[in-house]
Amino acid sequence: MMKLSRGIRGIRFCERHQIPIPPKRAIYGFFQGRKNPLFTNWMAQKLRFDDAKLPEIFADGGLVGGYSSREYWLDGEQVLLALREDVSDLLLKGTVESMGVPAEGKRKVLIRTAEKKIELRPRATIFSAGAGNQTLLEMMKKEDRALREQIAAKPWSGVVHKVKRSQVLVIKGKELTDVACMIPSLDLYIVPRNEGNATVWLISDGADPEVRPGDPVDLTQDPKLNDERLTGSVGSMTRAMPRLSRLSLTAGYYTGFRVDGRSFSKTNGEVVEDFGIGDLLVVWPSMLSLAPKASSIVVEKLRKKGIFPSEHAISVEAIRLPKVETQIGQEKWKTVNWSSWEQFRDDLHNRLQRYS
Ligand SMILES: Cc1cc2nc3c(=O)[nH]c(=O)nc-3n(C[C@H](O)[C@H](O)[C@H](O)COP(=O)(O)OP(=O)(O)OC[C@H]3O[C@@H](n4cnc5c(N)ncnc54)[C@H](O)[C@@H]3O)c2cc1C
Repeated sequence: MMKLSRGIRGIRFCERHQIPIPPKRAIYGFFQGRKNPLFTNWMAQKLRFDDAKLPEIFADGGLVGGYSSREYWLDGEQVLLALREDVSDLLLKGTVESMGVPAEGKRKVLIRTAEKKIELRPRATIFSAGAGNQTLLEMMKKEDRALREQIAAKPWSGVVHKVKRSQVLVIKGKELTDVACMIPSLDLYIVPRNEGNATVWLISDGADPEVRPGDPVDLTQDPKLNDERLTGSVGSMTRAMPRLSRLSLTAGYYTGFRVDGRSFSKTNGEVVEDFGIGDLLVVWPSMLSLAPKASSIVVEKLRKKGIFPSEHAISVEAIRLPKVETQIGQEKWKTVNWSSWEQFRDDLHNRLQRYS
């Protein structure tokens, strides 16, 4: 499930694919006199909001007020299924061997599948491989002088994405309130999920430090947990909701690298980069909830280039290949190792003691 307020096109996408988007309450909480630019954002986005009656769970926590708005939430796995729906007959599974533009002009893509080698002459090529976009660009660059020159001219010296270390504290319990919360003065951002009759809170600190270009990271592995950051999140939770310790809760965490496009036109949100060679677009949605919006930007850009969907699209059936069976990944919180909230905090405390 994820926040959709920034992508009205995302809402239309969900309606078209009949994905339920139940509106839920989002609470923006603050301590005395500590308002934040997020509030200005709500105004700028013309979100409707009211003064919030803070949920019971915040009693005794020092929050003096808040605002509340209705937001749309949806299931990430359903978004992926819907995004796949329209193209399921067109999916090929294989390895791209080359993507060059031969002397006579039109790009030639060679793909090796388990069954045979396939040559495509695409009217447009769109990379949407997350961290893999960089690798695909490197590969295309080798065979495409125009792309090489365009990328060399960019001031980011060839590194086309920014990588951030993200980590999420997860707590689960029947007595948690099914709302989203933003408490910027405590660096506390909570997104709700449901599991049976329990509510799950995904808690982040909004910090996500960027990995400096050139620093060695293995993007195929999740980043190491940062215990200091986790302690910050646990401390903020305890401060905002002292009564949490009286509830029966389980807790866990997950980490991941966030990969965003490095664009100069904007600092966050979806990036659809045209590297100036005509037939290539590279997409970083930045949030899964912005993937439908990023997709519609791609379609718009292609239309402007005079490229429209063709009735002659090659289906896997037409080239006598088996239909690709794709699996949809689970939302990451479903894979955490749970322990009791008390045990979780003790373990964290002990780990920190050991380091110091
Ligand atoms: C910890 C964490 C929490 C997040 N929480 C949220 C949230 O609450 N809400 C939200 O909206 N977003 C969230 N995001 C962001 C969201 O996960 C990403 O924006 C989204 O997954 C990006 O989608 P993508 O398809 O561009 O890239 P990815 O999800 O990275 O998918 C890229 C795919 O391309 C494949 N690939 C790579 N290289 C190649 C290649 N050469 N050939 C073929 N395939 C290749 C990869 O195997 C992968 O399957 C979170 C991210 C992290 C790390």
